Amino acid sequence: MKIASIQIYQAELPVRNGPYTMACAQVWSLTSTLVRVVSDNGIVGWGETCPVGPTYAEAHPGGALAALGAMAPGLIGVEIAPLTLHRAMDGLLTGHNYAKAAIDIAAHDLIGRATGRRVADFLGGVAQERVPSYYATGVGAPDEIARIAAEKVAEGYPRLQIKVGGRDVAIDIAVLRKVWEAVGGRARLAVDGNRGWTTRDALRVSRECGDIPFVMEQPCNSIDELRQIRPQIRHALYMDENAVDLSTVVNAAGSGLVDGFGMKVTRIGGLHPMAVVRDICAAHRLPHTCDDSWGGDVIAAACAHVGATVAPDLLEGVWIAAPYIEGHYCARGGIEVTDGMIALPEGSGLGLEIDAARFGAPVLEA
Ligand SMILES: [Mg+2]
Repeated sequence: MKIASIQIYQAELPVRNGPYTMACAQVWSLTSTLVRVVSDNGIVGWGETCPVGPTYAEAHPGGALAALGAMAPGLIGVEIAPLTLHRAMDGLLTGHNYAKAAIDIAAHDLIGRATGRRVADFLGGVAQERVPSYYATGVGAPDEIARIAAEKVAEGYPRLQIKVGGRDVAIDIAVLRKVWEAVGGRARLAVDGNRGWTTRDALRVSRECGDIPFVMEQPCNSIDELRQIRPQIRHALYMDENAVDLSTVVNAAGSGLVDGFGMKVTRIGGLHPMAVVRDICAAHRLPHTCDDSWGGDVIAAACAHVGATVAPDLLEGVWIAAPYIEGHYCARGGIEVTDGMIALPEGSGLGLEIDAARFGAPVLEA
């Protein structure tokens, strides 16, 4: 089964009650790039990639489109097998994992449809049919974030991620105090700096909040900064934005630099490398998430499928953008968080039913 054609679309995903605020950016609407891969026997698979603004990572929608446009003609006629496709993509373009991920996800969807199996079934097997999600609060004022935290725990979320950074760290500390007062031990807590703290800030937070049991996710900008704070902090340390490739994940896990990862499917290049991350983490007993930074139903389904294959005691959660955006691509209703959990969609492949017409004409074709 080989690739016969590729169509690339773009769609706007407006933020519900925007903006969504992180240390590095505020976003009101995101441009998602969708890939439709058609095999030589007429089976269709969908992929997607959606950078959360131009400053979160080295990724932006124009870059996704350009990279996919550069690779697509060279992928026609290539066997639809994940490793073969990754080797072909690497032979056409260095880097740009977030664009390659869209092709990788589409290939998994297509293989599943061709074989009548769910993506999770052939990614290793389903460990749980409903995967836990977590709620990310955005950066906000102490009382407001504490209110949201209590509300989301009441909805059933087993984990909260409190966004911090990009302002006076004393406000971040006040937020963490208020959240802890509001939810106590009723949910697991992650504090995500999105690279926004200095090492000075991270050390102060860990010192002054030593009694609050949270994991500190990507507090500072670089791996060097994580290495500097590592022996001095009282909290478990997770890597997110710095985990850009498998080599970095292997080194961070093997050297004991981190206690876990916030992992993004598109940043690492798609479902094939994400399953490798899962297995590296299992070998080192490191918990991790299976998320993406943003995206619609295709990304959400991809995250849910790989998340469902992770050993439940190591799965920190599957974050999807659905609670923050309007509408779905999937005619069956799409992927949602219900009572803090995401049900694995039924049906082969990713389990979605997508009508290409809703995206208008392709912006690129090969
Ligand atoms: Mg993060």
